[in-house]
Amino acid sequence: MSRIRTLIDEATIASKVKELGKRITEAHRGHELVLVPVLKGSFVFAADLARAIDLPLSIEFFACRSYGDGTESSGVVQITYDLTKPIEGKHVIVVEDIVDTGLTMTYLMENLATRKPGSLELCALLHKPARTKVPVTIDHLGFTIEDVFVIGYGLDYGEKYRNLPYLGVLEPE
Ligand code: 5GP
Repeated sequence: MSRIRTLIDEATIASKVKELGKRITEAHRGHELVLVPVLKGSFVFAADLARAIDLPLSIEFFACRSYGDGTESSGVVQITYDLTKPIEGKHVIVVEDIVDTGLTMTYLMENLATRKPGSLELCALLHKPARTKVPVTIDHLGFTIEDVFVIGYGLDYGEKYRNLPYLGVLEPE
C-alpha cells in the first residue's frame, strides 16, 4: 500500500484554473476557440478550464499513445483518437495535463500545425522542467513542479487515482 502526499490542493488548483481561463479569455477576445484536450489525463483539467473561459468555444478530443519503456516516452507517438473536424483557420488551444520530457507534445503540436490552424497554443497544467528532452513552448502554464510522479485531478497510476480532487504524489508506507 502507498500513502498519498498532497502536492497541490483543490483550492490552489481551482484558483490557478480560474486565472488561466481569465488569461486565455483576455488573450483571445473576439475569437471563437477550439479546445483540444489530450485524453485521458487532461479530462478533469479541461472540464474546469472550459468553464473558466468566457468565450464561445467547441471541444475536440485527441488521444495518443506514446511508446516507451514504461516510465518514459520515446517520442514515437500513435494517434489513437483524432479530431472529428478540420481546424484550418481556427484558434486552437491544446489542453494537456503535464509536459514531462516534451516528446509527446512536440509530436502533437507539429502534427496539429500541419492542419493550418489560425493560431495554435498549448495550455498545460503541469511542467517538469528537470525532465525536459525537447523544449516545448507552453503558452499558458499552471504549475512548475519538481521531478515527482503525480496522480490525481485526471492523472493516473495504472488507470487509478484519476478521480482524486487534488494533485498528489504516491509515497511508500
Ligand atoms: P512526455 O512525452 O512529455 O514525456 O509525456 C507526457 C505524458 O506522460 C503526459 O501526458 C502523461 O500522460 C505522462 N506523464 C508524465 N509525467 C507524469 C506524471 O508525473 N504522472 C502521470 N500520471 N503521468 C505522467
